[in-house]
Amino acid sequence: MENIKENLKKIKAELDKGVLLLAVTKTRTPEEINTAIDEGVTDIGENKVQEITDKYDRVKPVRWHMIGHLQTNKVKYIIDKVHMIHSVDSMKIAKEIDKRAAAKGLIMDILIQVNPASEKSKFGISTGETENLIKEILECCKNIRIRGLMCVVPFAEDPEEIRGYFAQVKKQYDQYGKISHERLDFKYLSMGMTHDYKVAVEEGSNLVRIGTAIFGERVYN
Ligand SMILES: *Cc1c(COP(=O)(O)O)cnc(C)c1O
Repeated sequence: MENIKENLKKIKAELDKGVLLLAVTKTRTPEEINTAIDEGVTDIGENKVQEITDKYDRVKPVRWHMIGHLQTNKVKYIIDKVHMIHSVDSMKIAKEIDKRAAAKGLIMDILIQVNPASEKSKFGISTGETENLIKEILECCKNIRIRGLMCVVPFAEDPEEIRGYFAQVKKQYDQYGKISHERLDFKYLSMGMTHDYKVAVEEGSNLVRIGTAIFGERVYN
C-alpha cells in the first residue's frame, strides 16, 4: 500500500496539470483502490463489467470509467454506475447504451475507440470509418454525448515506434472536435498506458490510463 502512494506521487509530479490521470484498477482489491483514492485519485477505469459490479459498493466515491470491450447484454448493469464509456466502436453498442441511458433518464458520456494500427486483435473502429460512426451516433442516439476519442496502440519495446499512431489519433481528434452538434463536446483524448503514456502526452493526450505503474504488475488467476 505504501508503494501505491509513492508511485502515485511520482506519476502526478510528472504529469502536466491538464492531463487527467485515470487509475486502471482491474484485478485490484477495493482496499488497494481506496488507498489510491485517499491519495487523490478521482477517476478509475475497469475493463470488465463484472469487476465494476463486484467492487462498486466497496470502493469510496469516485468516477468509474468503462475502458474495455463492452457486450450489449451487459450495458444495463453499468449504465447508472459509470461516468464515461471509452470503448464505443460500433452502432450496435451505441444503440444499446442509448436505449439503457434513456430508460434511466440520463445522458451517457462516451468516447469513440479508434484502432489506428488497424490491428485485427484489437477493438476499435478503423480510421476510415470513424467519422461515419460519429455522425450516425449523433443522428440516432439522443441519450449519448460524444466527448472525444480513445485508442490502444500496439505494444512496442521502444515507444518511439508508436508515436506516429498517437499523432494520427490527435489529428482525428482535432478534426472531429470541430463538428458542430449539441451532443458532441470534445474534451478527452484518452491515450497512453504505463509503458507509453509519456509519448502519448507529448502527442496531445489529456487522459492517461495507468495501472501497472501505480499498483505494480497484475496477477491474473
Ligand atoms: C489494462 C489497461 C490499461 C492499463 O495498462 P497498464 O499497462 O497496466 O498501465 C489501459 N487501458 C486499457 C484499455 C486497459 O485494458
